[in-house]
Amino acid sequence: MIELASKKDVLAKKAASGQIGLHQIDNEAEPDEAVEIRRYAVEKLSGSTLSAIGSVRMDYGAIKGRNAENVIGAVPIPLGVAGPVSVKGSNASGNFYVPMATTEGALIASVSRGSKAITASGGATVRILRDGMTRGPAFVFDSIDDVDRFLKWLPANLDSIRKVAEATTQHGKLESISSYVLGNNVFLRFRYKTGDAMGMNMATVATEAACTAIERGFNGARLVAISGNMCSDKKQSMVNSLEGRGKTVVAEATISDAIMRDVFNSTAQKVHEVNLRKNWAGSARAGSATQFNAHFANVVAAIFAATGQDIAQVVESSSGYTWTEVRGASLYITVTMPSLEVGTVGGGTSLPAQRESLSILGVAGPGNPSGSNAAKLAEIISAAVLAGELNLLAALASRELGRAHQKLGRNKA
Ligand code: NAP
Repeated sequence: MIELASKKDVLAKKAASGQIGLHQIDNEAEPDEAVEIRRYAVEKLSGSTLSAIGSVRMDYGAIKGRNAENVIGAVPIPLGVAGPVSVKGSNASGNFYVPMATTEGALIASVSRGSKAITASGGATVRILRDGMTRGPAFVFDSIDDVDRFLKWLPANLDSIRKVAEATTQHGKLESISSYVLGNNVFLRFRYKTGDAMGMNMATVATEAACTAIERGFNGARLVAISGNMCSDKKQSMVNSLEGRGKTVVAEATISDAIMRDVFNSTAQKVHEVNLRKNWAGSARAGSATQFNAHFANVVAAIFAATGQDIAQVVESSSGYTWTEVRGASLYITVTMPSLEVGTVGGGTSLPAQRESLSILGVAGPGNPSGSNAAKLAEIISAAVLAGELNLLAALASRELGRAHQKLGRNKA
C-alpha cells in the first residue's frame, strides 16, 4: 500500500467510504496528487494493489478536464511499428513505419509482412474520395404537413443556417444538410469539412447553434436530440457506408506472382478464392451489412490507440470491403473504407506519447495546408489496412494462421 500523508489518507478514506465522490478529490488536491489519492481509495475499495497502474507517469494536469475523469493512473499498451509500407497517396508519399498499440501477438508482424509485399510491388496507391464529419440531430413536428413545409423551408434558409454554424469555428465548414423522414420525425445530417480535426466536437458545437436557429426560424420545429443516430457516431450503419463519414478512402496494390510465392508461399488465385468465399460469401451468409473484410478492425484499433484517435470510432472506421482480382498471375487487391474518422489535432492526439506516434508518420498537429495532416494519416492507415488484409488472406490460403499465432501470440515456437 502507498504511504500517504494525513490529508491524503483522510481524503482517500472519505472517498472509499462514500462521504465524498471520487471526482471531488480534484477540488482538494493538485492533479498528480489527486490521481494518487483516488488510486489509494480504489485500492481500499477493491482490496487490490494498483502499483502497475500507478507506475505510468503522465501529465495529469493536462488530462484533467480534457481527456478523462476520475483518473487513477494509466494502462500501458505495448507499442510496435509495422512496415515500412510504401504509400503513393495524394497527401502521403514515401515509406512509412506505422505505430500500432496492441496486445495481440502476431498483428504487427502480419501488417509488416503485408507491407513487405506491397513495398516490393511498388507501393499502395491511395485516394480519399470524400471527406466530411457528420452530426445528425432529430426534430419532431406536429403533423406531416409541417414536415412537408419544413423540408421546403430548409434549403431556402441554408445560407443563414450555415452562417450561424460556421460562426462557432474557424476550421469547420458546413458542406451540406441532408434530411430523412420517419412519420412526423425529421432526421437531419449536417456534413462539415473539419480541417485536421476528426471534428466530432466541432460539428456538435456548430450543429447545436444551427439547431437553435432552426427552432427560432421555423415555427413548430422541436429539437429532440442533437444526435438522433443518423450521424451515425460509434455505430455500424448503412448511411455511413453509403454516404461516407470522416474520410472515404480507397487503396490498391498489384502483387506479382513471384512476390506472392516469395513472401507468402501462395498464389494470386488461392488468395483470391479465400477473399471471395470468406470476405464476400461468408460475410453475406453471416448477415454482415457493412464489413466484407478479414480484419480491418485489428489494424484500425491498433493505430487509433497509438495515435490518440477516439477508439470507439473503430466501430464505423473499420467497416469496409476487400476486393481482389487475378490479373495474369498477379493479385490485384483493394480496400475501401467508407468512414475512416481520424484527426491530428484535438482529442487524444495532444497527449505526449500519442503525439510522438503521429510524429513518426510526420503528421503531428495541424497540417499546412489545413487538413493535409489528417488526410495523410488516413491514407497511411488505409495502406496499413491493405497490408493487413493481404497478409491475413495469404496466411489463410497457405494455412499458416494457426502456426503464426502459436509462435507470436502464445510464445510457443
Ligand atoms: P476539438 O479539440 O474539439 O476541436 C479541434 C480544435 O482544434 C478546435 O478548437 C479548432 O479550432 C482547433 N484547430 C486548430 N488548428 C486546426 C486545424 N488545422 N484543423 C482543425 N482544427 C484546428 O476536436 P474534434 O476533432 O472536434 O473533436 C474530437 C473529440 O471529440 C475527441 O476527444 C472525441 O472523443 C470527442 N467526441 C465528441 C463527441 C461529441 O458529441 N461532442 C462525440 C464523439 C467524440 P476551430 O474550431 O476554431 O477551428
